Amino acid sequence: MFSLLRTIVQEVNAARNLDQALEIIVRRVKEAIGVDVCSIYLSDNGARELLLMASDGLNPESVGTVTLSWEEGLVGLVAERAEPVNLENAPAHRRFRYFPETGEERYHAFLGVPIIHHRKVLGVLVVQRHAEGRFDEDTVTLLVTIAAQLAGAIAHAEAVGALDGLQEQNGRMDSRPLPGLPGAAGVAMGTAVVMHPFADIDGIPDRPAESPDAEKTRFLDAVLLVRDDVKGMIERMEGTLPSADSALFDAYLMMLDSDSLTGDTLERIDAGNWAPGALRDTITEHVRAFDAMEDVYLKERVEDVRDLGRRILYRMEQQDKPKERKYPKETVLIGEEITASMLAEVPPECLAGVVSVRGSRTSHTAILARAMGIPAVMGVRDLPVGKVDGRTIIADGYSGRIYINPSETVTLEYIRLQREEAELSEGLLSIRDLPSETTDGFRVPLYANTGLVSDIRPSIHSGAEGVGLYRTEFPFMIRDRFPGEEEQRQVYRQVLEAFQPRPVVMRTLDVGGDKALPYFPIQEDNPFLGWRGIRITLDHPEIFLAQIRAMMKANIGYNNLALLLPMISSVGELDEALVLIHRAHRELLEEGEQVILPAIGVMVEVPSVVFQADRIAQSVDFLSVGTNDLTQYLLAVDRNNGRVAELYESLHPAVLKALIQVVEGAHRHGKPVSVCGEMAGDPAAAILLAGMGMDSLSVSSSSLLRIKWVVRSISMQQARSLLDEALQMDRPELIRERMNAALEENGLGGLVRAGK
Ligand code: PEP
Ligand code: MG
Repeated sequence: MFSLLRTIVQEVNAARNLDQALEIIVRRVKEAIGVDVCSIYLSDNGARELLLMASDGLNPESVGTVTLSWEEGLVGLVAERAEPVNLENAPAHRRFRYFPETGEERYHAFLGVPIIHHRKVLGVLVVQRHAEGRFDEDTVTLLVTIAAQLAGAIAHAEAVGALDGLQEQNGRMDSRPLPGLPGAAGVAMGTAVVMHPFADIDGIPDRPAESPDAEKTRFLDAVLLVRDDVKGMIERMEGTLPSADSALFDAYLMMLDSDSLTGDTLERIDAGNWAPGALRDTITEHVRAFDAMEDVYLKERVEDVRDLGRRILYRMEQQDKPKERKYPKETVLIGEEITASMLAEVPPECLAGVVSVRGSRTSHTAILARAMGIPAVMGVRDLPVGKVDGRTIIADGYSGRIYINPSETVTLEYIRLQREEAELSEGLLSIRDLPSETTDGFRVPLYANTGLVSDIRPSIHSGAEGVGLYRTEFPFMIRDRFPGEEEQRQVYRQVLEAFQPRPVVMRTLDVGGDKALPYFPIQEDNPFLGWRGIRITLDHPEIFLAQIRAMMKANIGYNNLALLLPMISSVGELDEALVLIHRAHRELLEEGEQVILPAIGVMVEVPSVVFQADRIAQSVDFLSVGTNDLTQYLLAVDRNNGRVAELYESLHPAVLKALIQVVEGAHRHGKPVSVCGEMAGDPAAAILLAGMGMDSLSVSSSSLLRIKWVVRSISMQQARSLLDEALQMDRPELIRERMNAALEENGLGGLVRAGK
């Protein structure tokens, strides 16, 4: 059954359009279960209506014409109840409705299962038999499993279908937006540019071949190079591998010479695709063919075919490298997973927005996009990445929706919203030099989060009172080895100098989790619960000490540095880190450097520290709450996983209560506490954080003036009473609703949606 499912899902994913995908499903399922009819009904988006989209067994003329509401017929009953209906004799059921055009009266046994995606009923998968009799449990579970597996593939095919439909209609129809998650506020409009990891055959998008001849040469040259590579392998293996094993490489050569690999790819280039897209289709077709084989040996050749595909692609991409890729003026970067280095590849003046299939608001890509002031939409799981390159796209970073090939109406609406947003940002400049204080005179200092040298100017320009979180991993990520002490000192000094005399809180290296260093790979099943942050640097004191020394030396003469320790989960770890910091300080003094011991703080991002905030506060100078991680650990929701993103809510009552406990713990020992996670840049949350008595907030420079506007528009009394109200509520969505209403009441509605 597993292989049946895999084959169907692969075939469906490779289908050209929705109709073809559905036809494959009904044919395959009918064969596999041995029934007389298999049909698929799909629900019209939003409307409670089902349309017969494909059938193997019912009258073909009825496909595309029979519609029924959820309140009608047995198929409607399945959709309405969102669970299987298994009947011995369908015509005898009270909900049976006869559609003469289908010829359905001849069938008795009926089994319908809902196709559900993201909790929504997309449609119904039905099998029928002439004979009377209920379907056995194995068939029911098989059909339920097939429907669950196919839901994603159908949603994907629908999205592709919608695109093709739109293309045919020349944009006359309004495109249906694809849902994702807000990543960074703002609206991006531009041309989709698909990014894919190097030599990733599945990530290759379709793209028109500018010159088919040049594409063919590029492909054939790559095949020749791979041929040489394989021959080299055979020579190196001679004498080491038994001949039966080295026969594998002969098979590679045969495949490379075969007309089905080269010929098919060349044909696809002639049909208009660029070489990597044509190669991807050929490889996918071969993989499918091998995978469908019963012979286990041949089945296993799938990996060889894929390997060969990757090698040819690698060689093609190597040929591309020297050429600088040209980016459209308004580039909206799209990818399965957009990484920091992909962002860095696009000239900043061309980068209009970011759309990623994976990730969510607190992924580091989204944080980086916010630091750069670029709208981002994350977790667009149904986005047909391979089909959107070069299309016009709108990414709404507020609602998390994207529109591909938007109609004129949608475009005009977003042009208006963009203008209003620019006006709003422009208007906010007037409060830049005014204090961040509530209407009744309480100060809530605002600091900037940064990590990019290019972000220094915008941070200063935003009126920040200093840097509340300098993420040192960015300078580590963009190099191909650990930066040395002197190299680091220069980078840190630039930041300290730019902000002095304002304070700069520098965090020690926090890699691991979703932040990988290309030259220090860490493979773990559970990276967020694994070796990250202080755990790595305590295990590698040489890295930690070099960084601390660089920071202290950079601070000479400015004295505006504070140190922040990430991912502390126990007093023991803190003590160890303090020993190393004091040692670095002592050694530098011994070396004659005029260093001072900076203020030291701990990030509260692991729940254990919430319960020991009081104790930890005694040992350090300040606390800073990393709500991005704290929320993920308290609620057990991966901050990068779009599938559970709706559960990730920093306004959860448990998070609010934890934060209050941290404030109380710190204040008991007279130590200040701030919030530097993304929660502080969320206007609704900022009010509650002020109400709790957080001493300061640290936000991305693009959010700073917005948060200042919030602070200056409310009174502390109002913030406290909103907090009291929130603490009476036990559901995050009610708290969010209440806070959004409070923002609207205070004339701050423009901060939670696009437009004024
Ligand atoms: C946090 O966890 O809230 C935080 C600020 O750190 P990072 O997002 O870099 O993990
Ligand atoms: Mg963190």
